[in-house]
Amino acid sequence: MTTDLSRRQILATAATTILASSPLWAHAADKTEAPRFELPALPWDAAALDPVISASTIAQHHGKHHAAYVNNLNRLLPTSTLIDADSLVEIVQRSARNEARRPIFNNAAQVWNHTFYWQSLRPKGGGTPPLELAKRIDADFGSLTALREATLTAATEQFGAGWVWLVLDKSQKKLAVVKTGNADTPLTQENLVPLATIDVWEHAYYLDYQSRRKDYAAAVFDKLLNWDFVAANLAKA
Ligand code: MN
Repeated sequence: MTTDLSRRQILATAATTILASSPLWAHAADKTEAPRFELPALPWDAAALDPVISASTIAQHHGKHHAAYVNNLNRLLPTSTLIDADSLVEIVQRSARNEARRPIFNNAAQVWNHTFYWQSLRPKGGGTPPLELAKRIDADFGSLTALREATLTAATEQFGAGWVWLVLDKSQKKLAVVKTGNADTPLTQENLVPLATIDVWEHAYYLDYQSRRKDYAAAVFDKLLNWDFVAANLAKA
């Protein structure tokens, strides 16, 4: 794991590359102090997704919700046995399914999930995936329309807060759509590689869509999904 980059350099790198394998901080050499996270910058202007997602939703979601998870994680880590972890992903994985570490898991996973969500979206996204990815979608789902339907069904059927994910299921060697509740994330399932996500917590859409979660998920799929990010994640999987 890289330890000689400054935190600023790492954050700058993390904002433009794939976070699944990127650290978000540099450790002190002896690992006796907890690292401090910073809120990653959005990969686009807060108003860039309007009108699909309004600037006010993005401002609240990134500036309040995502920031709160970062702050909570920084508050919890110094008293935890996880201060020697080498990455955010490692913190998520080591705190999963551990009741005593539940508060750290919830906040660490939400930091990772949100950072991944911003990267899953882009202005003028959606539309037709790159050719190789489109072929893979046809092979594994039957069609892009079928993937869209599976995504909207998962978004609608997720009871309460959660996330919808496009993943590579390595055990089946196929793309799949999965949903997770609250902070849960495919990072904790060994056979799943996350490729893109849609946040279906109410705070992600309520200002713009009220209770119409399916309309929000459809608009994200059709107009914002960053297929280049999906293809890059799949190429590295
Ligand atoms: Mn959220």
